[in-house]
Amino acid sequence: MKVWVDKTKCTGCAHCHDVCPVAVFEMKDRTANDVNSDVAPPEQQWNGKINPEVYAKWKDVQDGHRHFADKYENGSGGLSVAVNGEACILCQACLIECEGECITIVDDTGSEYHSIYK
Ligand code: SF4
Ligand code: SF4
Repeated sequence: MKVWVDKTKCTGCAHCHDVCPVAVFEMKDRTANDVNSDVAPPEQQWNGKINPEVYAKWKDVQDGHRHFADKYENGSGGLSVAVNGEACILCQACLIECEGECITIVDDTGSEYHSIYK
């Protein structure tokens, strides 16, 4: 299984990190050297620019999660990186919890799965 996060849309909510039963995701500071260390294609890697539509939707939401914070602190903030995609069992928990709708999973047959926020 290949798993990656579109970093331009990731709010840093950490829902994926919290629900994944096999620890595919690691939260990293936006300035970390290895923030693009999953297999996201170049246009989905972090280059300092947040998708404006996702930013407008989540910037003022107060739900106990930090949105678009540079650092991962107190359970949210930073960016999610799929550091362990090989372990994915396609339970789909992250796909329904990802508020940025920015997770892609590709199985061994080449089928793609995308997150759609519930
Ligand atoms: S679908 Fe894969 S990456 Fe997502 S929560 Fe389940 S095991 Fe983790
Ligand atoms: S659930 Fe989606 S938006 Fe939230 S940290 Fe994970 S990848 Fe980013």
